[in-house]
Amino acid sequence: MQKILVLGASGFIGSHLVAGLLDKGEYKITAVDIVDDKLKEATNNHFKDAHYVKLDIQKEKKKLSGFIEKNDVIVNLVAIANPGIYIKDPLMTFRLDFVDNLFIIEECARLKKRIVHFSSSEVYGKSGSVYMEDKKFLFNEEKSNLILGPIEKHRWIYSCSKQLLERVIHAYGLQQGLNYTIVRPFNYIGPMIDFLPSEEEGIPRVFSFFMDALLYGKKMYLVDGGKARRCYTYIKDATDAHIRIIENKGNVCDKEIFNIGTVKNEITIKDFAVLMQRTYVKHFMRPDEKLAGMESISGEEFYGKGYEDSDRRLPDVRKLRRLTGWKAEYDLPKMVYESMKYYVERQRSM
Ligand code: UDP
Repeated sequence: MQKILVLGASGFIGSHLVAGLLDKGEYKITAVDIVDDKLKEATNNHFKDAHYVKLDIQKEKKKLSGFIEKNDVIVNLVAIANPGIYIKDPLMTFRLDFVDNLFIIEECARLKKRIVHFSSSEVYGKSGSVYMEDKKFLFNEEKSNLILGPIEKHRWIYSCSKQLLERVIHAYGLQQGLNYTIVRPFNYIGPMIDFLPSEEEGIPRVFSFFMDALLYGKKMYLVDGGKARRCYTYIKDATDAHIRIIENKGNVCDKEIFNIGTVKNEITIKDFAVLMQRTYVKHFMRPDEKLAGMESISGEEFYGKGYEDSDRRLPDVRKLRRLTGWKAEYDLPKMVYESMKYYVERQRSM
């Protein structure tokens, strides 16, 4: 049985991934994280099969090396991935997403382990639409330039850390034969994506802000009018892609980078807010509730100084489809409905 170590296993992506891998029944999993709440929820009755280990990878390097040594494939999901945090604490973002990640990469190279490393669509940088004009321009893993904003816009420290790490991984592949696969997720949503700001302190991603506004009767804030676009993929579809990549039939994913995303689910943030509002009214709103309104706000006012947006990003997923056969099933209305249902039910059962 292949032994898989999942680092960052109790995050949004990791918890769904571990649950999906356990369902396959073909792997011995070790799930590492500093917390276990999402992992417990996702794996439900199978939690013990995830062999959860509470470990702070920033502090317990020796133990971490030991786990890397004992496993065949290392899935690395350790990262901060919320723009609100890049703005608030760029140094912490850099330390975790680059410095501590570098240790994991170097240990995989030294111990000759295959690594499936989760990077980000943020590596493509800020300005998708400057290339696009009226025709669609897809970000391609091999051909696209990776363009970032100025240093004073410290949002880009995340993108830059992720990009440099990809370059280091590639170099280890070239010079020391590291067997890697890099994954670049393009905006996933689904159950457990984030906490809601009314229930926990912090700055989640846009879905959770809007969900919170609808559930708790607050305003939905549209950063810079909500003109930025994102294309969304449901976590179930994303997990299917992740599992195909980990399975790596015929070793087709060796030394490859994969975009994962769904072009047909592109939407402006404003339309996304409208879609969530409509879905709420149609399926979840109670007669005594007032519908949350919308208001535009500047990026700096919402996030603080140093914010700049990525205006558009569309993935070229032809390589992923060709090599793994992956295809997304969920369209936007369905994934928004499913994701919202989870949060509405959770709040109403509290
Ligand atoms: N955004 C917004 N209102 C919010 C939170 C975010 O309009 O309450 C915008 C944000 O400026 C960006 C988009 O929504 O244009 C997606 O932001 P998210 O935090 O989900 O992550 P990103 O896709 O930028 O990594």
